[in-house]
Amino acid sequence: MKIIVVGAGMGGLCAGISLRQIGHDVEIFEKVREIRPVGAALSLWSNGVQCLAHLGLGPQVAALGGRMDRMAYLDGHDGTQMTGFGLTALYDRAGHRAYPVARAELQAMLMREFGPEHLHLGQELVAIEQTDAVVTARFADGSEARGDLLIGADGAHSAVRAHVLGRNLPRRYAGYVNWNGLIEADPAIAPADQWTTFVAEGKRASLMPVAGGRFYFFFDVPLPPGPAPGRESLRDDLKAHFAGWAPPVQALIDRIDPARTNRVEIRDIDPFDDWVRGRVALLGDAAHNTTPDLGQGGCMAMEDAVVLQMELRDRPDQPGAALTRYRDRRAPRTAALVQRARRRCDITHAKDPAATEDWYAELRREDGSRIIAGLRLTIEGSPLDEPAREI
Ligand SMILES: Cc1cc2nc3c(=O)[nH]c(=O)nc-3n(C[C@H](O)[C@H](O)[C@H](O)COP(=O)(O)OP(=O)(O)OC[C@H]3O[C@@H](n4cnc5c(N)ncnc54)[C@H](O)[C@@H]3O)c2cc1C
Repeated sequence: MKIIVVGAGMGGLCAGISLRQIGHDVEIFEKVREIRPVGAALSLWSNGVQCLAHLGLGPQVAALGGRMDRMAYLDGHDGTQMTGFGLTALYDRAGHRAYPVARAELQAMLMREFGPEHLHLGQELVAIEQTDAVVTARFADGSEARGDLLIGADGAHSAVRAHVLGRNLPRRYAGYVNWNGLIEADPAIAPADQWTTFVAEGKRASLMPVAGGRFYFFFDVPLPPGPAPGRESLRDDLKAHFAGWAPPVQALIDRIDPARTNRVEIRDIDPFDDWVRGRVALLGDAAHNTTPDLGQGGCMAMEDAVVLQMELRDRPDQPGAALTRYRDRRAPRTAALVQRARRRCDITHAKDPAATEDWYAELRREDGSRIIAGLRLTIEGSPLDEPAREI
């Protein structure tokens, strides 16, 4: 079949790779001329890494990933450790490590694997038409593409979603602002093999190891939505939000490059399950937009790409049924993830300050088992762990 994928983020590229592997003729159309991912880095948990390994990209992602063997929470004010524990037992059980990776490097690797000849940059989808026989994508420059199926992997502000649902969906502000970037790893700030998070006042300052001796850092601060202050005040803004915090947090703020630090107001979308209309289906953030509090949005897009591959492989003569079955398998897991991330978001960011204080007290008693159980809840249940099905 000829399959049109709209969007060359991690979801669209994984879908392009997965569908090509089962013999389809795939063309990806991407709005921007030069891909500059929003956000510096992200954590690919074992379920996302498992999907990339299934697509034959295990060594490639391992080469980009930082070695994150441990996890620790520290009191943001005095820097004392609240809890710290190893992650390797979790990885052994899951069969795959987790890899924090720089987004631009992940994106470049996926683009290389998909191949540039079928990737069309600078093509913004503006309209979709479909009949019983064909789907037509129309682009802002007046060109068009025809296919048997169209996969909308065009992210949180998806134009394909508006076609599928017949309306736009509002995005909900989650109540906090996130700043993120990359710095050189420094043991004076945090150990180089550990995911380190300083917490207090419903705020976080966090560091994860990325390949090449770097840390991915992020800060979260509960704030009302509104116009972003300019970059020139970024360091002073962080200094004010984290005034009185422990020396490693101050050293981190001193070290960042404001010109290369992203500021994002965090939003999500209420789960919905009408992901398919005729020959068109949604994938990734277009289908399920979560807050990043479980670090799973990108991993879920990768799971989507794998399930879409399985369903189209198993039902080659019934693409409509394959899309419906894909939706049926993915919508419940991703909806539960969005809701769990919201609950985690509210506790982390002091929506109810008493609940957040309870969480801090819990962290001081934590030996790792509760947090690992929480991580397992999302990592397990990946489509590649499901038992084989009768076709
Ligand atoms: C602060 C933050 C931290 C995060 N941390 C993690 C993490 O640790 N782990 C994790 O797994 N996930 C994380 N995520 C979530 C992750 O970034 C997303 O889930 C992931 O990028 C979704 O991929 P996607 O391909 O669906 O969408 P996107 O990456 O948004 O890609 C969509 C693409 O479609 C293109 N496009 C849009 N409109 C059109 C159009 N009309 N025509 C053509 N092209 C179009 C865009 O230009 C873009 O390239 C985080 C998100 C945020 C905001």
